[in-house]
Amino acid sequence: MSKSVIYWFRQDLRLADNPALLHAAHSGKTVIPIFIFDPDDRSLGMAASWWRQQSLAKLEAALKKIGGKLSFYEGRPVEVLQKLSDFYEADEIVWNRQYDGYSVSRDKEIKQTLPNSGTGNIECKSFNASLLFEPWLIQNKSGSYFKVFTPYWRQCMAGNAPEAPCPPPTELRSHPDVDPFQIPLPASPLTADADLIAEEWTPGEAGAYQQFENFIEEGLEIYAEFRDFPDRPATSRLSPYLRWGEISPRQIWSKIQFVKSHEKFSEQTISKFLAEIGWREFSHHLIYHVPEMATQNLQPSFNDFPWLENEEALLQWQAGNTGYPLVDAGMRELRRTGYMHNRVRMITASFLIKHLMIDWRAGEKYFWDRLLDACPANNITGWQWVAGSGADAAPFFRIFNPIIQGEKFDPQGAYTKRFIPELSHLEQKHLFSPWKVKSDNMDLDFQEGQYPDPIVEHGYARNRALDAFQQIRR
Ligand SMILES: Cc1cc2nc3c(=O)[nH]c(=O)nc-3n(C[C@H](O)[C@H](O)[C@H](O)COP(=O)(O)OP(=O)(O)OC[C@H]3O[C@@H](n4cnc5c(N)ncnc54)[C@H](O)[C@@H]3O)c2cc1C
Repeated sequence: MSKSVIYWFRQDLRLADNPALLHAAHSGKTVIPIFIFDPDDRSLGMAASWWRQQSLAKLEAALKKIGGKLSFYEGRPVEVLQKLSDFYEADEIVWNRQYDGYSVSRDKEIKQTLPNSGTGNIECKSFNASLLFEPWLIQNKSGSYFKVFTPYWRQCMAGNAPEAPCPPPTELRSHPDVDPFQIPLPASPLTADADLIAEEWTPGEAGAYQQFENFIEEGLEIYAEFRDFPDRPATSRLSPYLRWGEISPRQIWSKIQFVKSHEKFSEQTISKFLAEIGWREFSHHLIYHVPEMATQNLQPSFNDFPWLENEEALLQWQAGNTGYPLVDAGMRELRRTGYMHNRVRMITASFLIKHLMIDWRAGEKYFWDRLLDACPANNITGWQWVAGSGADAAPFFRIFNPIIQGEKFDPQGAYTKRFIPELSHLEQKHLFSPWKVKSDNMDLDFQEGQYPDPIVEHGYARNRALDAFQQIRR
């Protein structure tokens, strides 16, 4: 009987451009593709677990077509892998790398423990499948990591181009035996308030390609101009696919290079889009080099920030009942669709941190629980960026005015009215400050009691936040 190789799927739920899987397929050994539900990893919210469940079911079917069988397990990966390598007499375990603190230390433990345990002689190998540039390869002049995006990205662009994506395996040799440790793929129910998630999204590798094709057809051309407008189909909405590895940044990079040379997209729109893929790289660069930033301020001066404990306001923000229509539309979009547009993420996060002075960690946790794309690197860096406590962050004293942001970025009100239909009768000039309609008693269509008054007055909140910021600058 030939030896076996265990291939461990994690956040790389695809067949194409999957170097660890291709290595296993080409090894000449029988391949055991597995997925482990790890109780020590940060538990997912409802939307992200739904996505993962859907994606795993599609992956299982895709593997079957090339002779593979995906098996599921629950437990500490080091223990599960030990049991499986004993059972299948595996001499090799392969996976694609992850970069957050928990994953790095878990994988290190596995690499240190398994080769010297049980039957011995187990080789553990990892590959890069989720980044264009490994975090340790991009260094500043003093040999350290980058803390500012622009020089980071310039350095990335100055070096070798990212590697080309690798092809999917065409065949896997399955093991004839079946181990007794497997569990069925758990079901993942959605709640009633998440009614649009299954309607709007198609998880899986094929769904990712379709989404990317649609973006190239309809969004890329207008990306640079309209990416900040939530009612325009200008952004790719690839984030959940990238989060779960149903498409890789190398695939995106290489396709964009191809369309760049064959079609008429402006240089500006192409480089703007690639720079956002660059922000994803930068987030992973930061979380790899400073894993503590998952829970701590990157800038220690923020450790003394006088955050307020305000459970009631936090709940109103979560429910989309702050009385500021663009903030509320964003929070309701998140609840119903598992997604929120980037500009609106910045506005809702800013409102929580600066208008309500609630610690960014409470917001990060809520986004983590609700987002389909909840990402250990991007969510943390996004929140610390808005708070001003992160790397290359927006300065704290720049406080978004939610009324002006609405007027500017939702100029027809289509986005806001979609998620707050009770405001759909309001004229555009009143949409982002509906309380004025009430006080002027001007709009007969506005039904009192349906939409809340602002939970905090903008001018007051702004001054309070600036005073608090002065305290940590002293
Ligand atoms: C408070 C806050 C929290 C966030 N949490 C997450 C998160 O959990 N997961 C997540 O993927 N993104 C997060 N982002 C970044 C960004 O909002 C989303 O990646 C983007 O809105 C996804 O939409 P898209 O795919 O249409 O983006 P596009 O504009 O089409 O960008 C293409 C891809 O580039 C990456 N990207 C774009 N903007 C950023 C950015 N600012 N930082 C890092 N990567 C970026 C994403 O992978 C995205 O899919 C957060 C931003 C903020 C301000």
